[in-house]
Amino acid sequence: MTAAASPTTSAPPMVSLQHVDKHFGDLHVLRDINLDIPAGQVVVLLGPSGSGKSTLCRTINRLEPIDSGEIYLDGTLLPDEGRDLAALRAEVGMVFQSFNLFAHKTILENVTLAPIKVRKKSKADAEAKAMELLRRVGVAEQRDKYPAQLSGGQQQRVAIARSLAMEPRVMLFDEPTSALDPEMVNEVLDVMVSLAEDGMTMVVVTHEMGFARKAARRVIFMADGAIVEDTDPDSFFSSPASDRARDFLSKIL
Ligand code: ADP
Ligand code: MG
Repeated sequence: MTAAASPTTSAPPMVSLQHVDKHFGDLHVLRDINLDIPAGQVVVLLGPSGSGKSTLCRTINRLEPIDSGEIYLDGTLLPDEGRDLAALRAEVGMVFQSFNLFAHKTILENVTLAPIKVRKKSKADAEAKAMELLRRVGVAEQRDKYPAQLSGGQQQRVAIARSLAMEPRVMLFDEPTSALDPEMVNEVLDVMVSLAEDGMTMVVVTHEMGFARKAARRVIFMADGAIVEDTDPDSFFSSPASDRARDFLSKIL
């Protein structure tokens, strides 16, 4: 076991997957995934296209049902369905490649909607918290605009603020910068780095090696639905242990 994988405290891991398997028809898309992520750890998930990275992210909040195995959030087993699942799912924020903002709501409304509806916050409280988050991601002055009036980088920062407004305990990012023009990538990565520095537990699918080296404690490399390597970023990038990882790195670096 590497240092990166050992828990830092005796508390339960923030996220724990045990013997998780999943098929899409005949395709075995997750193969016996075992993964403990301690609170506050930042994990970068890498692997070739089709290796199961998005599916793995989506199983963590049960957007994808699994065939077998267990998933625990801070020690609590995720049920297959029902109200308890909805409550636990609200603890996991997710940011996708496409920003998925509500087109007909203002930036401020995008961020206050779920806290008012799901968390039953008052409008005033939700707006105060939303403005704090919009300031944090650098788009407070856009509060009354609609998503289409913002750049892609600004929209993705709003999407991050919207997730944070639910006060999640874990944040999942699935290729959050791959739909952005190159000059906007860093403004989104900077927000993610600052979240990491503040101690958020994060799982990040990204090919941005700068982010991995700067913010991640751990790199997990997947191929064909299995975890092939689980190590720290320096070891992974300088001396990958498997042929699959060496081949992957030769294509992206
Ligand atoms: P990655 O994010 O690493 O590119 P995915 O998790 O998206 O990989 O996909 C893993 C495999 O599962 C791919 O072969 C993909 O085509 C397949 N797949 C993903 N979603 C579905 C689905 N809803 N139905 C059938 N096959 C799927
Ligand atoms: Mg994917």
